[in-house]
Amino acid sequence: MTTKAKRVLIVGGVAGGASCAARLRRLDETAEITVFDRGPYVSFANCGLPYFVGDVITDERTLLVASADLFRDRFNIGVHTGHEVTAIDRQRQVITVKELASGALSEAPYDALVLSPGAMAITPPIPGIDLPGIFSVRTIPDSRRVRAWLSDHQAKTAVIVGGGFIGLEMAENLVHRGLTVTIVEKSAQLMPPLDAEVAAPVTARLTAHGVTVRLGDAVASFRNDGGALVATTEQGATLRADLVILAIGVRPETGLATSAGLTLGRSGGIAVDEAMRTSDPHIWAVGDAVETTEIVTGLKLVLPLAGPASRQGRVAAESITGRGTHFRGVQATSVCGAFGLTIASTGASEKLLQRAGVTDYEKVYLHPGHHVGYYPGAKPIHLKVLYRRSDGRVLGAQAVGEEGAEKRIDVIAMAIQLGGTVHDLSEAELCYAPQFGAAKDPVNLAGFIAENQRSGDAPLASWDEVGTDGRAVLDVREPTETAAGSVPGAILIPLHQLRQRWRELPSDRPLAVLCAAGQRAYYAVRLLRQHGLDARTLSGGMATWQARQAAASA
Ligand code: FAD
Repeated sequence: MTTKAKRVLIVGGVAGGASCAARLRRLDETAEITVFDRGPYVSFANCGLPYFVGDVITDERTLLVASADLFRDRFNIGVHTGHEVTAIDRQRQVITVKELASGALSEAPYDALVLSPGAMAITPPIPGIDLPGIFSVRTIPDSRRVRAWLSDHQAKTAVIVGGGFIGLEMAENLVHRGLTVTIVEKSAQLMPPLDAEVAAPVTARLTAHGVTVRLGDAVASFRNDGGALVATTEQGATLRADLVILAIGVRPETGLATSAGLTLGRSGGIAVDEAMRTSDPHIWAVGDAVETTEIVTGLKLVLPLAGPASRQGRVAAESITGRGTHFRGVQATSVCGAFGLTIASTGASEKLLQRAGVTDYEKVYLHPGHHVGYYPGAKPIHLKVLYRRSDGRVLGAQAVGEEGAEKRIDVIAMAIQLGGTVHDLSEAELCYAPQFGAAKDPVNLAGFIAENQRSGDAPLASWDEVGTDGRAVLDVREPTETAAGSVPGAILIPLHQLRQRWRELPSDRPLAVLCAAGQRAYYAVRLLRQHGLDARTLSGGMATWQARQAAASA
């Protein structure tokens, strides 16, 4: 159906709504476009809020990407802030709008309606959750309140509930302001969307910066004790704090859609088609409120990220003007910075693959420097890449490091988007000069390791089965390295002696070979396989082993 919209109303004027409005104007000079937002601002940078709380961003005005005046003057778009849309009459194609300052109700008719109401912070129904000093950070006024509380109460301690993106960013910013911070995270790892062993260095980094991380625990209640907040956890810990930040996650804001009888998806988001159209042909929905398709697994989910919200807004605008643009789904490409670490991922994690019932996958770990080792300052990137065993298609990647992690993830994100294989990673031609990368970039190395696995040149042993699959473990590091410990029961033969000593190895058992990060093990595997031994590489070596151990003991 081609809809030539005259009156387009947009509910929510931030990432999805604002991008929809602006795109629509660029496509249709005649449309009457009106945006309603119940908050005081449109088009503000929610992603910058933790840094405003942390005083890294000091001027609140810089958070305002575009004002209502700019929308009016530059784009001829009407913006009504402080106006909440309270109902949709789909029969009459009319919305009810409440002016929050006066309480006055009015109606506005539409030819096309776009819902971009975002998500709401999850506040668990636990005793004391409404006490003063407990905050969620979703809006500029929220962060203003946190800033005021910090200075009015000269806060020195904080508890952050939730160890995901926002929890980590808030921890960094509160530490930056001199607070002592405890994070309470219900799952057994920080950054729950990542695989546990990838997230292990993040916990170590936070701990090194003085943050107390309580994993596998949850706050059961809050109370006030002489002006301080006291959080009691399910494991019985008592945590005193001057301030509490709730960063448990969000749920899609679907109240308006539900009461209008629009269809919701099983994930709880508003169901939309590829053109972002809801179950009502005159209503589109975008952003954190909608259910979308994860392209690697095909799973339906809600993904509260700014990039997809903004792209969906654009697609909705094009659909409203009759263009056949489609939203291709999401691959959850994301990045977070905390205490000098960059944590980035794209596509499916191993746990998402398992949730989707995917078993046709393989994984490689590697820990290369972000640039060549001979140029000063190389920092390791801990990289995990997942690919389809049967055809080598790249399924996902996660990276943690001080430098260059997000660059590699962005490259692999494009490979996933284009349906690329590990061969494409091997062949990727990427920037190189000593201070920026390597002639064999970490992305290439991931491709080489995976291709060697697929070709049988250097197959991989499974870390999951070490000690249980009958393989003997061979550690080819130097004695100076193995003195500090190895995998229990490992045979120790340094690589440089292997050519002389390989006959000492058991010939009746397969071998799993490890070194510090995988490279020497690969050389050893090639040598041993040419002597007829069934040798496989434990990818990522001790660095992966230690991360797995840290994750298992968390
Ligand atoms: P929003 O941007 O939340 O906008 C929804 C708007 O709709 C709100 O202003 C709300 O007041 C209004 N509204 C809701 N209901 C009504 C109604 N009935 N009537 C009128 N108005 C209504 N994403 C990233 O990709 N990277 C990041 O680094 C990142 N950091 C973040 C940090 C923080 C602290 C927060 C809160 C979010 C962060 N995000 C980040 C997520 C990102 O901001 C969201 O995914 C994105 O803003 C979603 O856009 P949206 O248009 O769906 O909703």
